[in-house]
Amino acid sequence: MISSRDLNDLHPAVKRRALAMISACDADGITLLITSTYRDNASQDKLYAQGRAGAVGPVVTNAKGGQSWHNWRLAFDIVPIVHGKPCWATTGDAGRLWRKIGDIGKSCGLEWAGDWKRFPEFPHFQYTGGLTLADLQSGKTLRGDA
Ligand SMILES: [Zn+2]
Repeated sequence: MISSRDLNDLHPAVKRRALAMISACDADGITLLITSTYRDNASQDKLYAQGRAGAVGPVVTNAKGGQSWHNWRLAFDIVPIVHGKPCWATTGDAGRLWRKIGDIGKSCGLEWAGDWKRFPEFPHFQYTGGLTLADLQSGKTLRGDA
């Protein structure tokens, strides 16, 4: 099972945008920690099982193996470090910080899941190059220079 936090495990087109976002945040005095990049299908299935079928704790994802952009190396998750600690809060000052990070990510060509109407996910950024999960499942791929 593979569950990576390494930017090198992302698709080159996504890694390039992630690096641009990290340095733009850095220039604004915001430090980001990468918490997830690539996950293989087995890892995704394990995550999907969390909170389901009698398991303890909350449901953390609605995606099974192959249904998450992380499985296709096109998504990564971050959290800002505030006063030396990951900041998971999303209201008040923290909410404003997340919005700023979201805007920076979007200015680097990424899609921010904090904007999603259903299941907004503040830590999640992705670049799909216009491809759908169905495209990927049918064998289409994103070009390296996309
Ligand atoms: Zn994610």
